Amino acid sequence: MSWSLRVGKLFGIDIKIHFTFLLILIWGALNYGGSAGPLYGLIVTLALFTLVLLHELGHSVAALWYGIPVKDITLLPIGGVARLERMPEKPLQELVVAIAGPAVNVVLAAILLPIVGVLAVSQTGLAGLTASIFLNPGLTGLLSFLLMANISLVVFNMIPAFPLDGGRVFRAILGFFTTYQNATNIAVQVGRVFAILMGFVGLFYGQIFLALIAFFIYLAGGQEGQAVAIKSALRNVKTAEALTSTDVALSPYATVGQVASMMLSTPYPLLPVLDPDNGEFLGVASSSGVAQAMQQGHWYKNITEIMQPARLIPKISLHAPLVDAQEKLATASSQVVAVYDGLHFKGLITANDIYRVFRFLSQSGYASPQFA
Ligand SMILES: [Zn+2]
Repeated sequence: MSWSLRVGKLFGIDIKIHFTFLLILIWGALNYGGSAGPLYGLIVTLALFTLVLLHELGHSVAALWYGIPVKDITLLPIGGVARLERMPEKPLQELVVAIAGPAVNVVLAAILLPIVGVLAVSQTGLAGLTASIFLNPGLTGLLSFLLMANISLVVFNMIPAFPLDGGRVFRAILGFFTTYQNATNIAVQVGRVFAILMGFVGLFYGQIFLALIAFFIYLAGGQEGQAVAIKSALRNVKTAEALTSTDVALSPYATVGQVASMMLSTPYPLLPVLDPDNGEFLGVASSSGVAQAMQQGHWYKNITEIMQPARLIPKISLHAPLVDAQEKLATASSQVVAVYDGLHFKGLITANDIYRVFRFLSQSGYASPQFA
């Protein structure tokens, strides 16, 4: 995630804060300080986000336990995000990973409750207890605030609005009875209903922040649903289906200038460079790379000097499922995958080619049409 700053490492996971998070610190300092001033407000805000961080660590440690790498945890003004290398698709794993976050807050609340109780009673005696002791700035006030925050985090996150934790728990439970794809569809639809309800509640009570979060949940649920639909559709399609027949290939002896004039007359932004003798795949020339070289006056250079060499491009078999090509594109920092039939180079596949196949499948009713 760009715009974020690495602040530390826990369990081998990078902990980052988004730059907008600094704004929420200022906002918190001014709003949570009360009579004790902005420094107390800052402490309250930082303590609140420590709870959020511990919640995300709960998810992350559970994911690591199942052998799923965690890319990083980022703290944003609307909460935290733990990015997993992949989503656990086994229902039990998803259930455990989803519950592990709120479970951390349940444990924290269970620890805080007796401490807050003892602190409050020791200050005023059982008879003298008033609400103000829990609300006023100070240790008791801070711990009561964190107790309430923990409870709120559990309640909010367990709303079954996919992709909130509650929605993931719901999908995982559905997953015991139906396919992953079906479970996701139902969880996304139910999640949308909850997101809309949440949005109305937010608007009705003038909680714009809540309405905004509901809107993001609605969008994020749809996006994740679509990603699952694409994946499951592409699992049953061979890589060969996405291959467009291009007869255009470049010779390694061509100059940048020659390629530039040739690219003007072809619709392909990426062209393979092949050895003219044996057809060996040497690399890929992109129209953006060629344009950049032309701008720098390198029109006389050999195309091999500016191409992306073959060794940096992921390879896939013509007969492999298309979902493998999609995964290679997502994990490698390459725009293309090179397709081979045995030892023979067959062509290139880009994210666009994969999307084109998916569009075709969803229009023909193959994938769930609601995501088309
Ligand atoms: Zn969570």
